[in-house]
Amino acid sequence: MEINKIIEPATLDAARHLIDGHQRFVITTHMSPDGDAVGSAIGLHRWLKKKGKDVTVIFNDAPGLNLNFIPGHDEGIIFETQEKSQPSQKAAALKVLEQAEVLIATDYNELYRTGELANELRKLSIPKLMTDHHLNPATEEFDIIISHPEMAAACEVVYHLICEMGDANLIDAGIAGPLYCGLMTDTGMFSYSVNNPGPWLMAADLVSRGADAERLRRDCELEPERRARLMGYVLDQKMKVLPELKGAYFSLTKTELKKYNYQKGDSEGFVNLPLNLYGIQVSAYFREEKNFVKVSLRSKGNFPVNEVCKQFFGGGGHKNAAGGEFHGSIEMAEKLFVKALGIYAEYLSL
Ligand code: 5GP
Ligand code: MN
Repeated sequence: MEINKIIEPATLDAARHLIDGHQRFVITTHMSPDGDAVGSAIGLHRWLKKKGKDVTVIFNDAPGLNLNFIPGHDEGIIFETQEKSQPSQKAAALKVLEQAEVLIATDYNELYRTGELANELRKLSIPKLMTDHHLNPATEEFDIIISHPEMAAACEVVYHLICEMGDANLIDAGIAGPLYCGLMTDTGMFSYSVNNPGPWLMAADLVSRGADAERLRRDCELEPERRARLMGYVLDQKMKVLPELKGAYFSLTKTELKKYNYQKGDSEGFVNLPLNLYGIQVSAYFREEKNFVKVSLRSKGNFPVNEVCKQFFGGGGHKNAAGGEFHGSIEMAEKLFVKALGIYAEYLSL
């Protein structure tokens, strides 16, 4: 299949030189990796390996169990091991970084998004290549920037890079699978950012190359019992609906998370649930973490949750999906959210 060439020729040339001219690559993505982060990192990993390169994926922190359905999810090494039972892989990660010739950053636009790992990445004097779809890439932090905010997923950017470099023939089932997973999850099962042919053509091509679309979708839905029960608790007991402001929100405290034996990734996607209510255009989820409140916002239409996150919650993201870290109480975060709905009321319309 011939795909539309989207990467700027000079950028593509620079990427080609960088890849052809080096041997040892390290691939990184944002902290708390989601399906697109893992899919694009593993897709890059397997592609470069197939080209005969020495490649290592370093995750700042381990992908949640909810991402186990992604082929190759366990191929990376973990910089910040959070489980006391797991041995630390930090030393191995530092060694890889010391020997790396090229850093590839995927699904993030600023080094700080990699968490603790960012301190190490900043020290590197090797060339850094970005494949991403977030707005406002940190141009001073990277040497080659393949940034396409109009794309649905970093996996779509990586797919274009592989194809436009003339390597489409290298995409086998092993590469198609993870790339398909990232596209599927970042579009909410092909629900948003899909009013253009790009993601569909990519999906069709990946299926033709061996991605098992039905199985990946089915396995993506699998969940532990505790997650299903936590979801029931959130919807029945915690969700607050503000019909006049077209908003809804919920929060989970450390105590509540503990009660449900919360494991990382257990509440993935919950923030989207209130958007299914009639008349609701904006939703928020506040989760109490050790040192801050993790904020997740989602919206429909023109309501810019990335602006709200930037202004109130020390974060950012996309117009309809954004997040941040709030240093204050959950109650304060909730109040700020309600205030923001009022301030940004002009964008409320369904
Ligand atoms: P989530 O709510 O799933 O954590 O994040 C949704 C989107 O918001 C992410 O894809 C990312 O673009 C953005 N995002 C989440 N957390 C942060 C943050 O702390 N800072 C910034 N700048 N963006 C974030
Ligand atoms: Mn993404």
